[in-house]
Order: sequence, then structure tokens, then C-alpha cells
Amino acid sequence: MGLCVFENSVLHQPVTALRGVGEVLAEKLAKLGIVHVLDLLFHLPMRYQDRTRIYPIASLRAEQEVLVEGEIESTEVVNRGRTMLLCHINDGSGILTLRFFHFTTAQKYSFAKGVRIRCFGEVRQAGFKLEMAHPEYRLLAGNDPVPLENTLTPTYPTTDGLQQRTLRRLIETALLHVDELVDLLPENVVRQQRFLPLGECLRKVHTPEGNPSPTLLLSGEGVARRLVFEELLAHQLGVQQARHELKQVLAPAMLETNHFWEKLLRALPFAPTNAQARVIHEITHDLQQTTPMNRLVQGDVGSGKTLVAVAAALHAIANGFQVALMAPTELLAEQHYQNLQRWLEPIGVETVFISGTQTPRQRRRKVENLLLGIGHIAVGTHALFQNTVEFLQLGLIIIDEQHRFGVHQRFALREKGKQGDHYPHQLVMTATPIPRTLAMTAYGDLDYSVIDELPPGRTPITTVALSNERRDEVIERISAACHEGRQVYWVCTLIEESEALQCEAAEKTAETLRERLPHVAVGLVHGRLHANEKESIMRQFKCGELQLLVATTVIEVGVDVPNASLMVIENAERMGLAQLHQLRGRVGRGSVASSCVLLYQAPLGKTARKRLDAMRTTTDGFRIADIDLELRGPGEVLGTRQTGDVRLKIASLLRDQHLLPTVQVAAREIVAQYPERVAMLTQRWLQRVGEDTATRFFQS
Ligand code: ADP
Ligand code: MG
Repeated sequence: MGLCVFENSVLHQPVTALRGVGEVLAEKLAKLGIVHVLDLLFHLPMRYQDRTRIYPIASLRAEQEVLVEGEIESTEVVNRGRTMLLCHINDGSGILTLRFFHFTTAQKYSFAKGVRIRCFGEVRQAGFKLEMAHPEYRLLAGNDPVPLENTLTPTYPTTDGLQQRTLRRLIETALLHVDELVDLLPENVVRQQRFLPLGECLRKVHTPEGNPSPTLLLSGEGVARRLVFEELLAHQLGVQQARHELKQVLAPAMLETNHFWEKLLRALPFAPTNAQARVIHEITHDLQQTTPMNRLVQGDVGSGKTLVAVAAALHAIANGFQVALMAPTELLAEQHYQNLQRWLEPIGVETVFISGTQTPRQRRRKVENLLLGIGHIAVGTHALFQNTVEFLQLGLIIIDEQHRFGVHQRFALREKGKQGDHYPHQLVMTATPIPRTLAMTAYGDLDYSVIDELPPGRTPITTVALSNERRDEVIERISAACHEGRQVYWVCTLIEESEALQCEAAEKTAETLRERLPHVAVGLVHGRLHANEKESIMRQFKCGELQLLVATTVIEVGVDVPNASLMVIENAERMGLAQLHQLRGRVGRGSVASSCVLLYQAPLGKTARKRLDAMRTTTDGFRIADIDLELRGPGEVLGTRQTGDVRLKIASLLRDQHLLPTVQVAAREIVAQYPERVAMLTQRWLQRVGEDTATRFFQS
């Protein structure tokens, strides 16, 4: 049986079978994992825009994305640090400001008093007023009513050069064949759950009729419930499969005692915490087996994951194997390299640093050493697994801060490290706190350990939430901290839609702080700097040449500057708890008392207030993860889709976790009674971006 009722259904065919789809378009679609016509049906909207009705200005609330129509009352060009155009419109119920950071003179003159304008955009709070920044708009001539859309407009995940319009058209074509899909759920599940037919659910999600609430459509309730269920099921089957496959392959059993670790322990100024010792024990047990270790170690920021990684590495090395330690950025790789070097050189273990920025000549010796087995442990970014780097006997791969690496990369790496018919062991470390029940599903293909204890002697971080109006006090505080020789982070978070605008905002902040703090050495990093520029500034901050670092959220992961003891986070009210926690983890790493200032724009919404309260009252990552879960009601759809490295189209592991027990039962039933459906379900639902090992893994 194929995926459809009709073996020859167009759903089976490559997308090029559709009219107007040539090679170029097919390639773009492939980037989204859309290869066959069928895949279009399962490319689900990430949100909807409601252009079906016009909202009265008086009824608007911040964060709504709405259509508004009014008459232009006045237009002005103002200069608040940068030039912008403000256009005030009135619809009889209230006044709304449109804000343009980029505009042309022609545009300015077209916004004449009395002209009618219809605009679509996100409403935001600016002080006590509401505004829209860069709305889509059209000026309405005459008094003829301009028609509105009839249905909600889906917005799909897309890729460069592929327009929403094109995607919508193709998906609509595919929908003509939606009833040719076979129902892969066991009948009793469909009955028990009172699911509507799959085709109907897909149709309603892609082309919602009768204007249901967009939130509901994506909430995991109503028609979406079945889709959520199927996706979780496919995911569960996928990870089970991967786990099963992995138990069928071989890995070197490392039975020798870890004499290097014993040596290191004698030299270390501290003893491992109980939690570290337990996790090291679990890892050692895995490494002694003849099947590959595949373990996730979760430990809050500062819990000492590096030491655990080192223990694992030394075990492999004591058994005559080499180790690859991979970090998500060059800076973190270098930081690991320096720590490892310090710890390992005295005990005769050779660490090799492979950097993407080394010239071939600089690299040659290092690469040779790895090939000859003289280098024991290689540290680097994914550059480690590109081209020229080869090992004599790679026995263990360690991936740090893995949420930057996708599940696909993890599989690909394992393939790369394969020697003969033996696969290397794999250890993944993450600071992302995920409640335990979820971890079992989110990382179902991995065994799971947790370092649930911080090393002793940390001074807790004091966190305060301050309204923007008290910015001056905060700047005073920075001045005082720098005067005492401490270092400070100032984090500018996303308030602008685009990265470009965000970087501009960070530049502006850095400028202001430079003016206000003439005696302080201020540096700036943001996403638009070249990698080497970024690294060089980070390095200057690390070595103390810079005292204040203004940064966008690029500094979120792993950076360790123990002397930095004050962090200011702007627009904290707009950020998720998990991210705030990650950011804050950059301070509190040394022996001086650290503090974190959360700056917010009053007035605070209810959820925002609870989030900030949580940040003030606890620094425990697991506690924060739980609160995060509580605060994310079903209404909050965006941003909850991603947990760890699992990419889901419509389900959310957090929001939909109550379904997991039923999903697991259904998964067992399918494996036992309909084994041929496993591949079909995973093929329908799991993202296949590029044809890599993971895909084959999931589908074999
Ligand atoms: P993370 O889990 O965030 O990666 P690190 O491995 O960077 O944490 O460790 C944070 C700091 O704690 C490092 O300076 C490390 O040397 C130190 N550390 C690790 N384990 C212990 C321990 N058992 N006792 C005291 N300090 C420790
Ligand atoms: Mg770390």
C-alpha cells in the first residue's frame, strides 16, 4: 500500500508534476522539505493573518495583527536619535500612529491630511499610546468601498525567494487531491478521539472557512487536534525507530580504567559535585558497552558540564581512542580549548584546536597529529567535521550546547565518525532546561542524565526589575561597577521586527552609553558583524580591555567571563523565561556577588509581570522551566513550537504534552499491528530538509 488510496495519485509525484513548477522552484521547495506533491499538504501554516475585517482603533490591543482604516489627521517628521515619519490616523473611534523608520519624500507627501488609508500590521504599545511600525498600507482614493478578504490568510514557513502567494497557490492545488490520502491512524484511535477525517482537517487548516479564530486553528484544539496528534505520533515513531536502529550497530567497548581521570582529580582544586559524579558514572557505563552511547546531559548554566565532558573524554583516551569536542561557535570552541589545555596538558593529554579561521598551513600540523593519533582530543566548531580533518581512532563525539545543532546534524556526524563497522559514542550537552517528562519525548532517541546541582560557593545572582524610567539610575550603577573593576553586559533584545533594525537599535544604545559613560570602554557586538569582528570584540571583553559590552542576544550561549558581574537586559518583558534565564547565566560565574537588571517598558501585562517575578525569585533553571510551562497557555502559539532541537509543524511538546501518553499507546499499536505504516507516517510528518543520513535513518 502506498501513501494514498490511488497508487497513481498525483500526490506521489514530484512537485515538478504540478503546472508552473520547474527545477528552480522545485529546489526552493526542497529546502522546505517539500519534494512530493504530498509534502505540500503537510506544509502547515505557522500563523494566519486576518484581513477579513477592519478593527475600530478604540478596540485595538498591543500585539494584535490587524487591519485598520482611517483618515490621516497629520503627518510629521521627527528626529529622536534617528529620523522617522509619524502619521496619525483617526477612524472616529480613536487615533493610531503609524511609524516609519525608512521613508521617501514622495511617501511623506502622499500622507496628506484627509486622505483615507487602510493598513495592516502589528499593534504595539508605545508609552501609553498604540502604534504600528511599518504597516503594509494602501491609500484609498474616492469613496468606493475596497473589498476585504473572505477567509483568513495562512502564512507558511518559507525560504528566500519563495513567496507566500506561490506557496498558497501550490498548496491549494494539492488540496484538490487531499481525499486521496490514506488514513493511517488505527480505527479505534480515530473513534476514541472523535477525530474528523484527515483530509477535512488539512483542508480546514489551509483554507479556514467561516473565520474561526486563528489562535484556535493552531491551538491544538478543534480541527488541529488530529494534526497535532498525528505529528506527535510520527515523531514518537521516528525517535523509537532511530533508537532501535542504533542498538543494532556496534561501538568500541571501552573497558580499561580511566587512569587519566584519576590523575586529573588529584590535580583539580575542587572535587566533582555529587551530581557530576553520578552523571560521569552513567556515561562510563555507556562507554563500556558494545553499542554506541547516545546520551544527553542536561545541566543548568554553570553546573559544570565541561568537567563531565572531560571525564568522558579521558575515559575514551585512556582506552586508546580519540575524542572530538564540538562547540556551536568559534569563541566557545576556543574557550573550551583553553580550559582543556590547562587541565589536560599536565597529565600528558594532547588537545588540538581546529578553527575555521586557521590557514591551511596553520592547520596542517594539527590535522597530521590527529591522523597520527598524537592529538588525543580535537576541539572546534563543525569545522571539525568538514573536509580535511581525519582521526586515527575516533571513539567519542561530544557536542556542547546542542540546541544549535539539529537532529540531522547529529546523525550525520555519527556517520562521519564511523570506522569499519563501528560507530563512535556520542554525548550531547545542553543547558536548555526541559521538564523531565518532556525530555523523554523531545529527545526520545537519547538516554538522559541531568546535573541537578551547582558547584558550592557560588554567590547567588540578585535580580531586579526596573521600569525604563529608571534608566539613569541603571547607568549610574554601571559606572560604579566599572569603577570597581567589574565588567558589565548590556543586552538589547528584539523589539524591531528585522535584524537590521535591531542592530541599529543596539548601535544607538552603545552610542548613548559611550556618551554617558566617557570613562568606560564600551564594545558592541551584534549579528550583523563579521564573525571575526564579533570574536575579536568578545575576546577584548574577555581579557578585560572592554568594560561594558553592548550586545544583541548573540551572547546567549555559553560565554564565560567570570569578571562580568552585572547584566542589564532591555525589554525584558518581551522575552521568554527560558531565554532570560540563558542570558542571565552569563553572570554569577565568579566569586563576587552578581546582579541582573531587567528593564521593562511600563505598563506590564499580566504574563509579563509573572515572568519577571519568576526571574526575580528564582535562579533554578528547572523551576523556571516549570513556571514557563504554566505561563504558556494554549493561546500562546508562536515560539512554543521549538523545544530542544525538535522542529514541529503544528504540535508543541510543551503545550500538547497531555496527549503524549495516548500517543505512546497508539505508537505501540501501530508498531505491533501495522508496521508498514510506520514509515508512511514518519514520511508524511517529519521534516526532511535536504536528504541526509537522518532521513534515511527515519525512513529505513
Ligand atoms: P556549564 O555547565 O555552564 O558549561 P562550566 O563547565 O563552564 O559550566 O563550569 C562553570 C564553572 O564551574 C567553571 O569555572 C568550572 O571550572 C567550575 N566548576 C565545575 N565543576 C566544579 C566543581 N565540582 N566545583 C567547583 N567548581 C566547579
Ligand atoms: Mg558550557
